[in-house]
Amino acid sequence: MADKVLVIGSGAREHVIATTLLAGPGVDRVWCAPGNPGMEPDGISLLQEDSSQPEKLIAAIRELGIDWVFVGPEAPLTAGLVDELQAAGIPAFGPTKAAARIEGSKGFAKDLMRRHGIPTADYAVFHDLETAKAYVRSHGAPVVIKADGLAAGKGVTVAADLDQAMQALDAIFIDHKFGQAGAQVVIEDQLVGQECSLMCFVRGERFWPMPLSQDHKPAYDGDRGPNTGGMGAYSPLPQFGPELTQKALDAIVAPTVRALAQEGSPFTGVLYTGLMVTDQGPQVIEFNARLGDPETEVVLPALTSDLGTAIRTLMEGGEPQFTWDSSHSRLGVVLAAQGYPGSPKTGVPVPLIAPESDLRAYYAGVSGSASTGLTSSSGRTALVVAQGDDLAQAARRVYDRLDGLSMPGLFYRHDIGHHGLEA
Ligand code: AMP
Repeated sequence: MADKVLVIGSGAREHVIATTLLAGPGVDRVWCAPGNPGMEPDGISLLQEDSSQPEKLIAAIRELGIDWVFVGPEAPLTAGLVDELQAAGIPAFGPTKAAARIEGSKGFAKDLMRRHGIPTADYAVFHDLETAKAYVRSHGAPVVIKADGLAAGKGVTVAADLDQAMQALDAIFIDHKFGQAGAQVVIEDQLVGQECSLMCFVRGERFWPMPLSQDHKPAYDGDRGPNTGGMGAYSPLPQFGPELTQKALDAIVAPTVRALAQEGSPFTGVLYTGLMVTDQGPQVIEFNARLGDPETEVVLPALTSDLGTAIRTLMEGGEPQFTWDSSHSRLGVVLAAQGYPGSPKTGVPVPLIAPESDLRAYYAGVSGSASTGLTSSSGRTALVVAQGDDLAQAARRVYDRLDGLSMPGLFYRHDIGHHGLEA
């Protein structure tokens, strides 16, 4: 019998997880908590339970007869939701609180990498402003300043000069811009190269890689403007061959999952490695303890095996099958509300785009309903993905569709995929 699954989260990442689960025979019903109304036309049910109150969530899971849970975002993972669900006898896919420290504390991740010789930028960790400033003065610019904890992708400053570095430190230690997440900072050397994302399904020391993808963090065309949670992504990457993936798996992923297991925090879930492809080979920019957003929206649709069966098999200790379509490219563009990432406008109409043969939308920060109309409720409202025989065709399909829509109040980047298209 097919499973009933609960996906925790509300973004476009959770939308694609849920639709991919529903597309295969292993799962016949999916709830998303809290989800968003843009998911409902795909047959995803919304559950208004708050994952920060595990007792209520567990009661709802039992009442609905849900078989297992897929935890999408970092906040419930680092808060220990998987531990709580497992303690209640509910199978949950995602790392425990201890294993999720690989994302929840940059200092933890860097120290683990240093202990195990995993390639990453040199760094130091500080707990107070004066010592951090003294270090930056002696180090010189460029230098990278990172709040230690979760900051929704906004806690990092790549400082080109000392003034910027000092301002970033003041924001963390004096203005407490990131609250507790800024109780310590990691200061590291700048890595130079092109970034890409390598995500793997992991169980202990075993891992199953997904195709490479690339995100675009700056808000505006030409990689200008403030950093965001991500404005678009594409996969696979024509500019990098299979050797790069193999190198990263051998030098980074394998020793990292081994280190976590050996040190008593074995990792089960998705390990996301943010890589900088430098002249010396791939180096780690960061780890995430979950699927990336927006990368997942262009990677999971390439899965040709059944996601639900594979995850259940992985959790039960068997041999999961993950096979991938390598004959198409996928490119996704985020529709953001004007003002994002600073103060995004809410209440702006967001188009409901029905799935077409080679194009579809995944929704994120929207309220309202599919029947009466969706409006923006936060910065990233939706991501529109197209599939093509190659990257250029995928890009044309997305932009032809988007350029034909009138969307006052929303904006999007026009150059997603540029590194791959130039390759
Ligand atoms: P993170 O949250 O650690 O991924 O950092 C956000 C962004 O900052 C990354 O995607 C990079 O663009 C940039 N970044 C972080 N660390 C470095 C580094 N050591 N060198 C250069 N850029 C970095």
